[in-house]
Amino acid sequence: MNPLARVGFIGLGAMGASMAGHLQAKGLLTAVGNRTPQKAEALAAQLGVTAAIAPSDFTGCDAVVLCVSMDADVMQCCRDLAGVLTPGSLVIDHSTVARETALSAAALLAESGIAFLDAPVSGGVEGARNGKLSVMVGGDADVLIHAQELLSAYALRVTHMGPTGAGQATKAVNQVLVAGIAQAVCEGLAFGEALGLKPESLVPTLAAGAAGNWFLDKRGATMMAGNYKPGFKSALLLKDLRIVQAMAEALGRQYSVVERSLDDYAKLVDAGFGEEDTSALIRLKRGG
Ligand code: NAP
Repeated sequence: MNPLARVGFIGLGAMGASMAGHLQAKGLLTAVGNRTPQKAEALAAQLGVTAAIAPSDFTGCDAVVLCVSMDADVMQCCRDLAGVLTPGSLVIDHSTVARETALSAAALLAESGIAFLDAPVSGGVEGARNGKLSVMVGGDADVLIHAQELLSAYALRVTHMGPTGAGQATKAVNQVLVAGIAQAVCEGLAFGEALGLKPESLVPTLAAGAAGNWFLDKRGATMMAGNYKPGFKSALLLKDLRIVQAMAEALGRQYSVVERSLDDYAKLVDAGFGEEDTSALIRLKRGG
């Protein structure tokens, strides 16, 4: 495989912009791209790299890293990159998508001799900003060893979970926990509000004990203040829960946290709150 000295990044949103910044700090980043090109132009100017407006702007990259929104976006990026990257190069996908999408992307790129790792991440925008993400990887173990140095730019932990798709399977499990924690925290804090407890003493008191967790710590005070700036958009969690539900159905299983959360986040998205953080779930919990 090519040494990973020239890296491109596609998807400069809440997660990707920070991750690209860490690659630039390591001297690895050469080009950034994004669906809305103005974002790529602004970040490229800030970081002193090329704004990739067309797929051909990634020509010469040893690796291209993706952190885009949906399954169709990952496939579109992979089709574009298959036409411009050389054999021996690598695509790493940090988006959360279906396991089948990871398998399709890997097969499509393999036709052009390009390696692929499905490598979804957890740790939120704070983890991306601080370079402390947990990366769950599916694909060839040797390819991952080759990519370790690149991933260490923004990872606290990188784990090889198994063959292609195993990263996305792990992320699906992660999202069951994420959804359940959001259910518990939003419901508990709405209950606290109804009881007349003060947010400034309630949140730190709960966080210091057995109920403490990342979501309460990072989103408890903001949601009680009515601030739902993402973070992690509700529409993206709904996308993830649909993936989880399909995987569970394929196993003949149904999980109550997933079903309840699907209903709730579909309601939030339908009501126009899809671009708000997942902590906006407290809106429904307040309503009774
Ligand atoms: P986001 O803020 O909505 O950013 C997504 C970015 O990808 C946007 O800048 C978007 O461009 C760009 N994009 C989408 N489709 C594209 C395409 N076809 N070609 C090029 N660029 C494209 O989302 P995010 O929160 O960063 O999340 C990104 C992915 O990581 C999602 O799959 C999400 O589920 C996952 N994730 C998110 C978090 C989190 O806490 N936020 C944590 C872990 C994993 P535009 O500017 O045109 O919208």
